Amino acid sequence: MLRLKLWCRAVKDDSKDERLKKLFLVLYLVSFILLPAGKVASAENPLRVEIFPKGIRQGDVFLVRASSPASFRSIHGEFQGKRFLLASGPKEGTYEGLVGVDLNTKPSRYEMKVVATDDGGRSLSKGLSCRVEEADFPLQKLTLPPSMVDLDPKTLERVNRESKKLKALFEGVRTEILWRGAFLRPVEGEVSTGFGLRRVINGQQKSPHTGLDLRADEGTLVAACNGGKVALVEELFFSGKSVILDHGGGLYSMYFHLSETGVNEGDRVNTGDVLGRVGSTGRSTGPHLHWGMIIRGARVDPLSFLRLTKHLQD
Ligand SMILES: [Zn+2]
Repeated sequence: MLRLKLWCRAVKDDSKDERLKKLFLVLYLVSFILLPAGKVASAENPLRVEIFPKGIRQGDVFLVRASSPASFRSIHGEFQGKRFLLASGPKEGTYEGLVGVDLNTKPSRYEMKVVATDDGGRSLSKGLSCRVEEADFPLQKLTLPPSMVDLDPKTLERVNRESKKLKALFEGVRTEILWRGAFLRPVEGEVSTGFGLRRVINGQQKSPHTGLDLRADEGTLVAACNGGKVALVEELFFSGKSVILDHGGGLYSMYFHLSETGVNEGDRVNTGDVLGRVGSTGRSTGPHLHWGMIIRGARVDPLSFLRLTKHLQD
């Protein structure tokens, strides 16, 4: 009390300007005391974001793991202008999502962002700068008789129709995530043609190899690489008898050139369930499985899903 009296006297003695300055100082200090506790804590961002693996190349998929002591009303990620889903992870308070880097992505730095709204309605976001390295895909030059390369108008029409249908299918983003835990190789057997191979046929640049060819005997059982819903069972011109699974979040897996298919569109499958048998239908030079993966339109290397195994345990 005595102190306050002294201070008041000091104020009285000051010039008008000095008194105003002191008044503002007091108001400024009092405003801190009156602020609700929640506002003071907002300086701290409780959102933690990590990616696996640390090094990303063209055609890779990577795992984004967000964690926070707070629970969220909503959470999603953004990469290259596209949203990706984050679902509750196996550990409490963690959220996980997969992001694909299309094989044609220019090597550079890209911003990846996780955006969330907590239960109190507060918006949080956390960004990470991700460097995409060049993958150095091999080049294959082939000379083939034109009859094997050029398509007649009727076939060309079929090919265009099928490619439009697949494109529309891959644009679908199921909000329910059906994959869970680690991904599985659909057949044993070594890689005969790798992912991303750039092809030049008769001097003309053709579309790159956007899947992985696995060597296997005719009739070998083909397993689902993870849980999903059968989105397509059809015989296509290039891919032959094909099965496509929708794993949710815009992630699809493809199994081409089958000799027979054993599932129907709309079926729910779990990791390891049999989808069909290895064959050589469509444009194929011998029995093998073409295994393809696409996520939010990005064509990615199936092997990069297997590289995430240690980070994707239940
Ligand atoms: Zn292939």
